[in-house]
Amino acid sequence: MPTLIINNLTKRYGKITAVNNLSFTVEKGNIYGILGPNGSGKTTTLGIILGITQKDSGDFTWFDGLKGKHARQKIGALLETPNFYPYLNADDNLEIIAHIKKINQKKFDDLLILVDLIHRRKSPFYTYSLGMKQRLAIAAAMVGDPEVLIFDEPTNGLDPQGIAEVRDTIKKIAQQGKTILMASHILDEVEKICSHVAIIKQGSLLATGTVGNIIGGDIQIEISSNENEKLQNVLTASGIVKDLHFEEQIIVLSLQNGKAAEDINKLAFQNGIALNHLFTRKRSLESEFLEITKNSQP
Ligand code: ATP
Repeated sequence: MPTLIINNLTKRYGKITAVNNLSFTVEKGNIYGILGPNGSGKTTTLGIILGITQKDSGDFTWFDGLKGKHARQKIGALLETPNFYPYLNADDNLEIIAHIKKINQKKFDDLLILVDLIHRRKSPFYTYSLGMKQRLAIAAAMVGDPEVLIFDEPTNGLDPQGIAEVRDTIKKIAQQGKTILMASHILDEVEKICSHVAIIKQGSLLATGTVGNIIGGDIQIEISSNENEKLQNVLTASGIVKDLHFEEQIIVLSLQNGKAAEDINKLAFQNGIALNHLFTRKRSLESEFLEITKNSQP
């Protein structure tokens, strides 16, 4: 049973289509990144699935159809830094959050250890660094022990140390087996934290899958010959190919470490097969994503 199914979701603001026929599925335990440049519709998507923003069409299903407050109780979200009381400490602020969420919780030790604020738990909020404030906000999203956590650009505005600490915190939360859905415009961040990714551009889905396959994957090689079946057998028997599949008349493969396209060419030649196509695919989504991001800069 998937945790969240998003199906053909669309949202327009006047002439702008903020989310355009978007579909993807988040499974339990996924660390799912929505990756896209500023203005690509990430926040709008998160707002819709949290019931804050009205969709125009399409639908989404949480927890196999659980509705309303039953679904919401299982979701903790951090869309923008909540308004903590500046003169209250971490414990007191979390107690207020628990009260607002109607959760009877007065002890926050585990949460404060998790977000690495236990040593500053009695300091007033206004004395915190930006990174500490953001980590308290993450703790606040986790009050009530939700099954799913939603983070919108969780490292925005932080310095490099703050960024590293927030990323570590998210990884620790992931290790607890939580499902996480986070929006980010930083490829590197998604690559470092997430297991899965949906790349969006102007509200439309560009690609989705595991981070390994989509942005962190091996270089892929395309080859073809007039004897593709024989070529496939030779390649499989050679032990230098990690995996291989057909895309119409083209064989697409990735190689074991230390092997290169020329090894494939040699192997084919030694077996009397002449290649009529040999092409090394770059990590195309990465370059495409960087291109998109560059184009979106003012
Ligand atoms: P960012 O990271 O900059 O917040 P994003 O990927 O989260 O970007 P959204 O905030 O979802 O993108 O915005 C998607 C598009 O919808 C943008 O063109 C934005 O200007 C537009 N938009 C968002 N909210 C509104 C609104 N309330 N009224 C009008 N247009 C809106």
